[in-house]
Order: sequence, then C-alpha cells, then structure tokens
Amino acid sequence: MIPVTSYVGIGSNLGTKRTAIASALSYLDDRRSIWIERVSSLYETLPQGGPKGQPLYLNAAAKISTTLTPFDLLARCKEIERKLGRRPAVRWGPRIIDLDILLYDTLIVMSKRLTIPHVLLHTRTFVLQPLAEIAGRKKHPVCAQSMRSLLRSCNRLQYH
Ligand code: ATP
Ligand code: MG
Ligand code: MG
Repeated sequence: MIPVTSYVGIGSNLGTKRTAIASALSYLDDRRSIWIERVSSLYETLPQGGPKGQPLYLNAAAKISTTLTPFDLLARCKEIERKLGRRPAVRWGPRIIDLDILLYDTLIVMSKRLTIPHVLLHTRTFVLQPLAEIAGRKKHPVCAQSMRSLLRSCNRLQYH
C-alpha cells in the first residue's frame, strides 16, 4: 500500500505527561508501517468534560505517513495506549495517554468502532490548536473548512 497522510491527536494528564507523549511518538514511529513526519508543540490545556478536579492536560498532534488501514491504525493506537499503562476507566477521565485518529487522508469513516474525522475534532480547541499548527490549511473532509478556520470559530464560540 502507498503510504497515506494521517493526523493523530495525543493527550496526557497523568504521570510524567511529557515522557508519555514522547514514548507514544517513538512507539508510533516504527518505520515499517508508520513514519512520523511532523509533531506540533505541546499545549497545556484545561480538562473538558469528565470528572471534576482532573489535572491539566498536555496535548499535541502528529502528522504521520502510514501503510496501515484506518482500523489497523486504531488497533495500533490502542496497543500503544495499553503498553504505556492506560486501563479502561470512566469516560473522559484522567489518562496516561490518549491517541485519537483525527484525519486519515480525505477519508470519511463512520462505524461503531471508528469515526474519522474524529467526531469532536471541530469542537475542541485542545485538538484544533496543535493540529492547526502543523496542518492549518488542511480541510476537514466533511465541512470543507480549514483547521485554521475551525480553530478560529471554536475560539469565537468559547469567548463570546
Ligand atoms: P474522545 O473520543 O471523545 O476523545 P476518548 O479518547 O477518551 O474520548 P477512548 O476511551 O480513547 O475515548 O476511546 C473510546 C473509543 O472510541 C475507542 O474504543 C474507539 O473504538 C472509539 N473511536 C471512534 N473513533 C475514534 C478515532 N477517530 N480515534 C480513536 N478512537 C476512536
Ligand atoms: Mg480522546
Ligand atoms: Mg481516545
């Protein structure tokens, strides 16, 4: 398979967050089926949703090339989450690592186990900010707006 470009959102709010993100990136970058092309800065963000009183998050986004199918990429992300010690817990609760597929080429996937683009991508500043840094002009395959423009809309909604 010819490699395709995909974007993965990364978040952590437990333990040594920076180290967990660095480890997740190095596990992803196996150079056989996934190649990391670019990584955003790390952003410290307030928890949204889930239980009250969670620690702050560190969020980032990575541009990858991959020969994996979307479902195999999802399985790989979950495997890495497990390897780094993430265990099933309450929805949107604190976690050592979260790897979400944000975009996979221009593909749209809507299944029970996998939605691409990530279903909340256009509503989350903590995802759009790192993503817009490395893919500002990239268009959302469903609404056709750029990541930069989605980030602006999201910021407007939050502050007014
Ligand atoms: P959210 O998806 O709202 O960010 P979360 O990342 O905390 O929440 P998880 O517990 O990591 O949620 O994953 C729950 C399920 O979401 C996974 O088992 C997976 O099947 C599903 N899922 C659907 N679409 C995606 C996607 N694009 N990337 C990763 N997981 C996805
Ligand atoms: Mg998530
Ligand atoms: Mg997730």
